[in-house]
Parts: sequence; C-alpha cells; structure tokens
Amino acid sequence: MTDVSHYSQFIPNESAMCQFGHRIVEAINNVDSNKAITVYLNGELGAGKTTLSRGIIQALGHQGNVKSPTYTLVEEYQLPKKTVYHFDLYRLSDPEELEFMGIRDYFNANSLCLIEWAEKGQEMLSAADLLIHIHYVDSARNIELIANSPLGEKIITQLKTA
Ligand code: ADP
Ligand code: MG
Repeated sequence: MTDVSHYSQFIPNESAMCQFGHRIVEAINNVDSNKAITVYLNGELGAGKTTLSRGIIQALGHQGNVKSPTYTLVEEYQLPKKTVYHFDLYRLSDPEELEFMGIRDYFNANSLCLIEWAEKGQEMLSAADLLIHIHYVDSARNIELIANSPLGEKIITQLKTA
C-alpha cells in the first residue's frame, strides 16, 4: 500500500522549488475541501519557505511579486479559486497579537493558509493539515511533506498519483 502520510523530494535549485509549488497547487485543486487548508512551512532562515510560497501563490493565479511578510506578519492574496494568507511569524512577540489581527477570520472555508514560523503563533493557529520541512543539502534542498489530517493525506495522495 502507498504511504499517504509522507512525501519527499530533492530540490536542486530555486526554480525547482517554485515548480514544486505548482505541483502542490495541482494536488490541492484535485481535493475538495470545505474548510481552510493549513500548511506549516518549517526550515531554517534561507531554506526556501518564502520561495515555495511564491510558487504556490503564483500557481494559483497571482501575477505580481510575492513579498515576504516579515514585517507585516501576513499578506493576503484574493485569487480565483482561493484566498491565500501567507504568514511569517518570525517577528511575532506575543501570540495574542494574532487575535487582534483577526486571525480567526483567516481560517475560512475558501482559504489556504501558508505559515512560516508557526511555532511562534502557538495555540492561536489552526492545526496544520500539512507539515512541510525544508532541509539544506549543501546548496540544494530536500523537501519533506507530512500529512497531519485526513485532508493532508488526500493532498499527498494526489501528489503521488500526479
Ligand atoms: P526562507 O523563507 O526559508 O527564509 P527564502 O525563500 O526567502 O527562505 O530564501 C531562500 C534563498 O535560497 C533564496 O535566495 C533562493 O534563491 C536560495 N535557494 C538556493 N537554492 C534553493 C533551492 N533549492 N530552493 C529554494 N531556494 C533556494
Ligand atoms: Mg521567509
């Protein structure tokens, strides 16, 4: 039986990382979800979390730049199929701040939440459907996806069958 809880792939360069973002979007487009899809992006500074997010956001139809939400904490993209909320919580000093930002409204049925440094948000965040870990392999990267919900398993199943 195929293991639907786990997927990993070698990512030789930046454009392959963006390309992988497109594959994630294809997989997401093939699962019905009547709730938010929550993805935690883990990896050291410079690992490629924002680069992968850019690939995902552009694959969903965004044409312009994708800037890192380092200072704004969250950037919103209203795209044809989904609204994407891209978070970078590195500079969040207190998870309570997320309450004031109206975070509860972000995890709605049509949203895709991409969260860098999710550990800083603690219990204010929805649980992840998918955990993505990016590791350095010399100057390249290895990406690892772990399903953390039935929806996450469906997404990985799609990735493996595509
Ligand atoms: P993070 O958001 O994890 O801090 P960024 O995506 O902002 O990281 O930056 C990743 C940096 O690493 C970029 O400058 C990118 O050009 C570079 N890079 C080199 N190889 C890769 C790769 N295989 N995948 C993604 N980024 C890579
Ligand atoms: Mg980043």
